[in-house]
Amino acid sequence: MPGKIIVLPETLTHRIAAGEVVEKPASIVKELLENALDAGATEISVELEKGGCQAIRVVDNGEGIAPEDVPLAFTRHATSKIAVFEDLYRVRSFGFRGEALPSIASISRVEMVTRRAASPAGTRVIIEGGAIREQTDAGCPAGTSVRVSRIFETIPVRRKFLKGEMTEQGYCLDWITRLALARPEIRFRVSAGGRTLLNIPAAKDFAERIALTLGRDIWGQLVPAAGERDGAALKGFVSRPEFTRSSNAQIYLYVNGRFVKDYLLNHAVMTAFRRIIEPRRYPAAVLFLSVPPGDADVNVHPTKMEVRFRNPRGIYALIVEALGNAIGVGKGDTMRHHPPVADERAGSSAARNAYAARVEEALKRYRISSGPEKLFFGRPGASPPEKRLSPAAAISRDSRPETEQQEEKRRFSDLVYLGQVAGTYLVFSGEDGMVIVDQHAAHERILFEGLKRRAAETHGGAPGQRLLIPEVISLPPRDLSFLTESIPILEEAGMEVEAFGGDSVVVKAVPSFLSDAEVRMLIGDLISECMEGDSNLPLMERRERIFTALACRAAIKANRALRGPEVESLCRDLDALPRNATCPHGRPLMVAVSKGELEKLFKRR
Ligand code: ADP
Ligand code: MG
Repeated sequence: MPGKIIVLPETLTHRIAAGEVVEKPASIVKELLENALDAGATEISVELEKGGCQAIRVVDNGEGIAPEDVPLAFTRHATSKIAVFEDLYRVRSFGFRGEALPSIASISRVEMVTRRAASPAGTRVIIEGGAIREQTDAGCPAGTSVRVSRIFETIPVRRKFLKGEMTEQGYCLDWITRLALARPEIRFRVSAGGRTLLNIPAAKDFAERIALTLGRDIWGQLVPAAGERDGAALKGFVSRPEFTRSSNAQIYLYVNGRFVKDYLLNHAVMTAFRRIIEPRRYPAAVLFLSVPPGDADVNVHPTKMEVRFRNPRGIYALIVEALGNAIGVGKGDTMRHHPPVADERAGSSAARNAYAARVEEALKRYRISSGPEKLFFGRPGASPPEKRLSPAAAISRDSRPETEQQEEKRRFSDLVYLGQVAGTYLVFSGEDGMVIVDQHAAHERILFEGLKRRAAETHGGAPGQRLLIPEVISLPPRDLSFLTESIPILEEAGMEVEAFGGDSVVVKAVPSFLSDAEVRMLIGDLISECMEGDSNLPLMERRERIFTALACRAAIKANRALRGPEVESLCRDLDALPRNATCPHGRPLMVAVSKGELEKLFKRR
């Protein structure tokens, strides 16, 4: 009988390896851009067709590839960037594995046209299924143009895993933004479906680049941060404590010019802010860390988003200290601007533990939202959470939200209000026991239903509250495209937003229950909440998310004392709700404990 073990054919091993490098269109954009940067290009343009799902073209004016090297560029482990092992620790280029082009070519059709400045003729090559189909001389400008099409055509499973075009385009824009931030001297142009999305001229410094890439609004909130320690240096910008976001999407971290998503570094950033910003809020930051080549290993992960430091503690301390100085933590007086800090600082070790818990919480969210990246810092062997388990899910598992039938009979206005517990839960006594209502969840549901009703009644376009002075807001590319796509939904909610040219939108009206909201923050939060995960949700779902985010924003917060009349009006509104007992996030808004259950608790039964 023949043995069971066979050597896999090369076409298959290549595809397997490609899976590690090329996960989605954005991975292709990243690799092609990095190659262009490594080739010393000063101008790069990117064209995306169907959000990068159909085709991606990157054109650069870099050094080009000599005709005899072109086939090598598509050969696995062929690179011009390192030659001996020690080079691994000295690399300053993005690439060094020689894997990107062959990986891309194994899952798509690639057409490359390239010419070195010194040679009169260029080369045109077409690669399909990883093999060269055609190589000819070509007249072309100096530099390289790579067009990748039929992406994942031979791997239907991968194709199926792609999200919608807008989402994939968002991922592509994310990578372009990350690279553009790191290389201010390079001009970037990006178009999609024939429309220019981005045109960032060469900038003289990081400051100018950040302003142009992330938008003037974020830029206006940043302060410089810098520090040095044991040969490592940090420079960059970080937001003032007053400016926060509801996700960590605006934290950009780089090690030796390379964008990373690294647990240790994020932990350090959150630690610097932990006494100053509220739980589950995140700063914006663009931070560049440089360490001596031998002190950081970027060769950990195929997509190279993690690093390993020789002296992680030193790096951690450097960041906490530099950011602390930048935002004025520890300099007594500046703390006064942040009242919660003042009490908590004076407070006990319990308060300090609370901070620690918050940071932990923040970091947990970070870990989850940053995907499958492994941890190397933290509890050894800690497995990444499989799925985001919302506190809601936890609650509904071990308590008993009301069944719909029971609720059919209940009228909140008939209950006797007893008081508030933990600043958040309203406790009522009713005929057959006790009812506990989560004030935030309940109010959120009320506002959410109100939005839906008004949208339906007015057929899109519930009149909102017009702003006295329309607010012009400039946004990073991905946020901008998301927001402009969502204009019709926002309109239904009474929110009037229009494209304002360049990277800006103008907000003219907001839902009336949000008339006191700070518009900039509102838009920022709306975007980060709705873009978490798949931003190409079906229209209905996107609408639900936007309505939810608006309702959440305006709803009575937890930890706010409610006066009697407020409770009464909440009860009336609850009675008017359609009967389903969850907040729009899916958390129960109330829990009923029946008389029978109380008796059981006290062992009377
Ligand atoms: P790596 O970047 O890790 O070396 P790649 O597969 O991305 O591997 O590229 C292989 C080689 O092809 C590079 O080392 C480089 O010499 C050449 N190359 C790729 N893209 C370009 C480009 N845009 N301009 C010039 N040379 C390029
Ligand atoms: Mg490369």
